[in-house]
This record gives sequence, structure tokens and C-alpha cells, in this order.
Amino acid sequence: MAVTGSPELLIVMNAHATPEEVEHVVDRLAEAGADAHVTPGREATVIGAIGERDALAALPLEGYPGVEQVLPILKPYKLVSRELSPDPTVIEVRGRRIGDDAFGLVAGPCTVEYREQTLETARAVAQAGSTMLRGGAFKPRTSPYTFSGLGEEALTILVEAREETGLPIVTELMDPRHVEAVLEHADVIQIGARNMQNFTLLSEVGRADKPVLLKRGPAASIEELLMAAEYVLKEGNENVILCERGIRTFETAYRFTLDLMAIPVLKQHTHLPVIVDPSHAAGRRDLVLPMSLAAAAAGADGIIVEVHPEPEKAICDGPQQLRTEEFADYLRQVEAAARLAGKQLAETV
Ligand code: PEP
Ligand code: MN
Repeated sequence: MAVTGSPELLIVMNAHATPEEVEHVVDRLAEAGADAHVTPGREATVIGAIGERDALAALPLEGYPGVEQVLPILKPYKLVSRELSPDPTVIEVRGRRIGDDAFGLVAGPCTVEYREQTLETARAVAQAGSTMLRGGAFKPRTSPYTFSGLGEEALTILVEAREETGLPIVTELMDPRHVEAVLEHADVIQIGARNMQNFTLLSEVGRADKPVLLKRGPAASIEELLMAAEYVLKEGNENVILCERGIRTFETAYRFTLDLMAIPVLKQHTHLPVIVDPSHAAGRRDLVLPMSLAAAAAGADGIIVEVHPEPEKAICDGPQQLRTEEFADYLRQVEAAARLAGKQLAETV
């Protein structure tokens, strides 16, 4: 459902409220010209009331049967908030799950360079037990003189890798003109750090029927990340995975500062799954394992990591890509850290 206007009130039903009582509230809201966003939860159903503040204030909502509490939503983000949907969102793609107790490992090359490089990586990460395959077809590059991806040719190679390994594919969408091609091939659409506040692109993927992996901008606050996700949910797409990938600080010893505190803090504020990209934060292979372990132990719902059969020859991000032959060992260690936080590397359901 596409939502117009912003949810102003939370109507928390009591634990024994019947479906008829929920419907009664929704009907009264409709009569007052307001919309309802109903979230059935483990404990209780929560209804977000979307409409004119004055019209809502005139309704005697507290007196309706089954209503436990009526609260104003004060935060600028609404649909992504835990208040509106108290239970964690679980993203399911081709039987693979990320969120709640399911830990997802998304692995693959920075970019699709050629068929064998991608297939070899896909086989290695699938064999080790990864959840999904990553690979850039359209690459955001700081310099306009560097390789910017194979485009649609890369999408066909990724599809071949999926056919062979069964791994769902995650790839970046940079330009609304590529929406159709990316949607046709990809299973999860990545919005890169540099596009986190590209609001037209966010609304575009909000209308898509594929999950979105939204990366935090290197200069974006946690609230700005949540507002960016709100753009996607507002258009009706509720399947968003947030990704911490390092922010810009005064530190120059590594590429970005991986903000692991964002994991528990985001989880306090949102029901959306939160994953971590240690590769782009570090820019160096030796930091990828320790930061992955820390992220998993801190309660991340997954990791997205770069892997290459010959990082020395990689067209981009070679120094940070794990080697395919070391990947299985890496995955086992990350899996153990995720278990500490009560999460399992999800099996196919
Ligand atoms: C990527 O994951 O391919 C990438 C370019 O990352 P980011 O947008 O986080 O820089
Ligand atoms: Mn990269």
C-alpha cells in the first residue's frame, strides 16, 4: 500500500483484541478521511493512523473496543520505526532469510569483470554456505576515468551464476534509467552510499517489488539513513535492509570509520534488518575479519563482503577483497560470532 501523508498516531490494540475490533478502528479512521497502516505483532496489533492531525484528534479512539493506548508519533520517521512495527522485519529472497534470528552473508566480487571471475567466486561463496551473491554491474567510481562496470552484460553473468549456485543476486542500481534492467535480473537492489539521499531513486525502488539494500552515506547521520529508508517504505516497499559501511571522520589510518555502534542504535529505532560492510569501510583485507567478527557479535543481521579469486588482478577494490580460498574459513569464524548474538547463518527455508 502506498501511504500518503505521514502517520501521526499509534493505536495499540490490547493483546485480546479481535479482528473485528481492529476493523472497527480502521473503518472509523476511514470515515474521518484517514488511512490505517495495520501491523499485526507478536504481542499486539498496532495501527498507524495517517491523516490530518485535527481530524484524528476529534476521534474518541481511546474509547473504542479493543484499544489499549493511543500515542502520538513524534519521530520524523514513521513507517521504519519500531513503534509502528515492534517485531523485527525478516527479508526473504528465494528461500534465504535475513533478519531476526537469521544471519545473512552476502559475498562476491566488487564488480563483475568477466564470466569466469564471477562464476568462480560464486561457486566458492556458495560452497562455503553464503546466503546471497553480490556483484556490481553499474559501479559508482570516484574518478570518471576508471572502470564503471559492464552494465547489462554483467547482469547476464550474475544470472548465470545464480542459475548455477542458487544464490540470489544483489547488485547496485545507480540510475533510474536502469531500473527495468536491474529489476528484471536482480533479486535485491542495492542503493549505494553515494546515492543514499538520491530521493528520486529511493522513491523509484519504493515502487519495486524487490527488496532494497540501502547503504549509509559516508556523511549521513543515523536519522538521515532512517529517513532515506522511509522514502522507500512510503511508496509501499517494506523490504529494506540497512547497511553500515563506514563514515568519514578525521581518522586517516583506514578508509572510513566503521560505526558499529550504529547496529544496536539502529535496532532500537527500527524493525528493519541491519547489516555491515567491512570491506568498503576498511579498504584493507587484514581488517575485514576482525571487523566482521565485531559486527556479528554486536548483533548485526548480516555482512556484505567482497571476495575475488585473484585480488591482485582485480579491476577495483583489490586490496580489500578476500581471496576465494580463504573464504570458507572466514565464513566459519563469522558464523561463530553471529551465534554469540543468538543468530544462525540461515539455511534455505
Ligand atoms: C559497493 O558495495 O559496491 C560499493 C560501491 O559500496 P558503497 O556504496 O558502500 O561505497
Ligand atoms: Mn567495491
